[in-house]
Amino acid sequence: MTGSPAQRIDQLRDLIRHHDVKYFVENAPEISDREYDALMRELRELEAQHPALVTPDSPTQRVGEQPLTGFAQVRHPVPMLSMDNTYSFEDLKEFDRRVREALQVMMVTYAVELKFDGLAIALQYDKRAFVRGATRGDGVTGDDVSLNLRTIRSLPLRLAETAPAGAFEVRGEVYMPRKEFERVNAERERNDEPLFANPRNAAAGSLKILDPKITATRGLGLFIYGAGGDLGLKTHHEMLAALWKWGFPVSHPVQLCHGIDEVMRYCDTWQEKRRELPFDTDGMVIKVDSFAERRELGTTAKYPRWAIAYKFPAEQAVTQLQRVEFQVGRTGTITPVAHFDPVHLAGTTVSRATLHNFDEIARKDIREKDFIVVEKAGEVIPYVLKSLPAKRSGEEKKIHEPKACPVCGGPVSRYRESAFVACENQACPAQVKRSIEHFASRAAMDIEGLGPAVVGQLVETGMVKDYGDLYALKATKLERLERMGAKSAANLVNGIDASKGRPLAKLINALGIRNVGEALARALADAFHSLDALAEAGIGQLQEVPDVGPEVADSIVLFFGNKNNRSVIEKLRAAGVNFGREEKAGPALPRTLSGKTFVLTGALPGISREDASEIIRRLGGSTSSSVSKKTSFVLAGSDPGSKFDKARALGVEIIDWDAFVKLAGKANVEAARPAAGGTAGPGEGELL
Ligand SMILES: [Zn+2]
Repeated sequence: MTGSPAQRIDQLRDLIRHHDVKYFVENAPEISDREYDALMRELRELEAQHPALVTPDSPTQRVGEQPLTGFAQVRHPVPMLSMDNTYSFEDLKEFDRRVREALQVMMVTYAVELKFDGLAIALQYDKRAFVRGATRGDGVTGDDVSLNLRTIRSLPLRLAETAPAGAFEVRGEVYMPRKEFERVNAERERNDEPLFANPRNAAAGSLKILDPKITATRGLGLFIYGAGGDLGLKTHHEMLAALWKWGFPVSHPVQLCHGIDEVMRYCDTWQEKRRELPFDTDGMVIKVDSFAERRELGTTAKYPRWAIAYKFPAEQAVTQLQRVEFQVGRTGTITPVAHFDPVHLAGTTVSRATLHNFDEIARKDIREKDFIVVEKAGEVIPYVLKSLPAKRSGEEKKIHEPKACPVCGGPVSRYRESAFVACENQACPAQVKRSIEHFASRAAMDIEGLGPAVVGQLVETGMVKDYGDLYALKATKLERLERMGAKSAANLVNGIDASKGRPLAKLINALGIRNVGEALARALADAFHSLDALAEAGIGQLQEVPDVGPEVADSIVLFFGNKNNRSVIEKLRAAGVNFGREEKAGPALPRTLSGKTFVLTGALPGISREDASEIIRRLGGSTSSSVSKKTSFVLAGSDPGSKFDKARALGVEIIDWDAFVKLAGKANVEAARPAAGGTAGPGEGELL
């Protein structure tokens, strides 16, 4: 043996890390499994003799010994946005047109890579060691699944010496190879456990197991496709090359395409070739390669403007329609659902699909017992494409619009001349059940133990008439429900009680306002800060919120104008549910920028462009996305885009952040600065 035990331990760890990268990342092992096992055994023995020398980044420490009791919630430093996606090349051309127009260039270079059908994760590194990893969750907060992630052998616990020593984040996808998926499902079948529907669900399920030892047996893989923080890199392909050198399993292959025609040709080549891959992919991801251009493009509330996913066309199958069921949703809408003989499509078995509405049934002339063509792509809901009238036997039956609600027998109407038929009875048990289920769901008030079975009983026994009644439930009464013991009744009451403190955005989502989903609820909470302020807002005020159009504004005003809804909201208030805080009317800000129009370009020091724009608005100025003769100033940061050149050509004054602060007044800028945590920090352009 050479040197001290500490030296030998270091040496062994370096060797094992080197071979881990060769084996799990590069698929090019240099030694046999037996030799690798011998290194590992020697390290384990040495560490057992010298427990003080064990460190968390040692290869022996991948799998934790203790099962967990739950996952902590972590807030993502930069929100994990989802990506706009499409099935059509026409949309890709349109995307390219928008990008070129915004950048004012003739051609854009795109990096094109495979879209992995897995689970998005964010990993934090500091001092070249793995610190923490979290799931995407709702994009703002996710589950801390660090201990399970550590068990993935291609995840580097320690990075190469060439990697940056400072803190940074990488993002990628955890997936399960198809072979592993089949093995896991075969094992579950033998153990009489429910099977995973597809590799994606299997990967997600495996990452959420409370015992890391089980996760370690699942053969999960990892691909990294983004990094944030100031890493001194200028393009996506440079970044991937750097990440690879630092020891990350980066997504590959990546193709640089000049212009959208090259992108489409490259996507075409993978249409069939993807079936030869050992894992599932449902499309391609197209990203603007240059980070400066990405910053120039920015993001919408939901998506980055510099990326789009192209999904491969759907798979189709012919099957027989057995019956059509009418389902009543939480707003009363009656949806016809087709039940057909099971078919295997895009990796899952499907036996039902929504027919959307009655106009669609009439247009496609779909009848009971018809042979139909069903289509499905990736995770998308299956879809009935058409009926095959040539295969009819004469036994088929036409499907008629219901004249009464199939659940309560109440009157039905067409909702605002649309194709949708809805039950008008606000007390309809189906509507009440769906709205309470929605209220309790994870993205809303997140009440554990309040699933469809319990909600069904609560409504049918009359214990609950709306979600406002939930907070008055007593454990002694709940115990009388079927399959509800004293312990689960107490747990449910605790769960309901705990939901009182949920953030305002979750409450707004929970109310079930038509057209208001998770993302909009968050935008509304950010804009109004309290439920009462939102309830009092007028149409015009609502439409100032990004992504709120006339239809959404209308739905919100209608909702809060409804007497029933107001009385339910009062029940929530009486129960002590968090309604958010009233905006403290601070001192009025001086309108030092009144009448001035700014165009922002490049990365500003220590502040996002969104926050800088907010400061300008609060101080009476306005912002615009393009430079014209009306522009007062172009506020330019580092790596400014084409707007900088245009400002020069038009003779518009260009100022930097310091000059801007002087112009607006330092104290004013500080007073107008939005509170931290609301908007993205630096480096957002590189993530995703
Ligand atoms: Zn009804």
